[in-house]
Order: sequence, then structure tokens, then C-alpha cells
Amino acid sequence: MSPSLPNTSLTATSVEYLRPPPSRPTASSHNARQTMRANRRVSALEIRFRKAVWAAGARGYRVRRRLPGRPDLVFPAVRLAIFVHGCFWHRCEVCRLPEPKANAEFWRDKLTQNVNRDAAATLELERTGWKPVVVWEHELRKDLHGVAARVAAQVVRMRGAHG
Ligand SMILES: [Zn+2]
Repeated sequence: MSPSLPNTSLTATSVEYLRPPPSRPTASSHNARQTMRANRRVSALEIRFRKAVWAAGARGYRVRRRLPGRPDLVFPAVRLAIFVHGCFWHRCEVCRLPEPKANAEFWRDKLTQNVNRDAAATLELERTGWKPVVVWEHELRKDLHGVAARVAAQVVRMRGAHG
């Protein structure tokens, strides 16, 4: 006996992080709920990543939402802006996750807007002397602490160069 509504639990385990929405949304309000839920999962992964970066020795980051693209992790002293991108929401070219078949036009528009916004943010950050770095969901799921160590090492290197 399985429940009639699949995948509606809010108590997502780490295995369920950032899973794309089901392919058969029934209404736009359902889409909105799925979006909010997926965003919460992105947030959970971001928080784990932030803690791992801190534990790897890179202190002094901020969450500076006013920068272009609203980076998830910012090191102002070395002008490093880190984005944690969900593979579905930002159309990861490694994972190439399928778009939902239902409401295809809605999803295509939405994801295209995301990708365009990402590109614009990258250009604007670089133009103003920031270094944008994208960390992908699939990298974090595979080796969160390895990615965190790499980012921390980059921060230390850049601080050395600035010091
Ligand atoms: Zn990916």
C-alpha cells in the first residue's frame, strides 16, 4: 500500500536534495509548491557546504545578496563570489537533466531565464573586479568536503596574493 501522493514529504533526506519536480504537475500552484520545496533543498545543501568551507579553514565569508546573481558565499576581501547551483534549476551541462514533460513551455522559459540570468551575473561580476565561481550540486553530492577544501585553498591563495 503506497501513499497516493508520491514525493510530497517535507522531511527530505540528504539523498533527495535538489531533485527535479515531478513531470506531472497538476496546476500552477502545484508548480509553485514544488519550486519552493526544491529551493529549500538547495538551501540545505548550501548550508552544509558553507559549514564545510568554514571547517576547511576559509573564514570571513558573507552572504551578500546584493551582488549580481546573489552569490551564495562571498569573500569580500579577495572579491570571490561563489554560487551553489542546482543541476536542474541551472541546467547543468554535465548532468543534462530532462525538463518536465508537463507544462513544458513554463519550465523551458523558467530554466532559460535562470541560465540567462547566470550569464549576465557572471559578466557583471567580472566587469566589477569579482571572481565568480560556480559549484554544482552534483559535485557537492559526490564530494562536498573535497569541493569545500578546494574553495578554501583558493581563498587562502588569493589572500596571499592580496597580502
Ligand atoms: Zn550537474
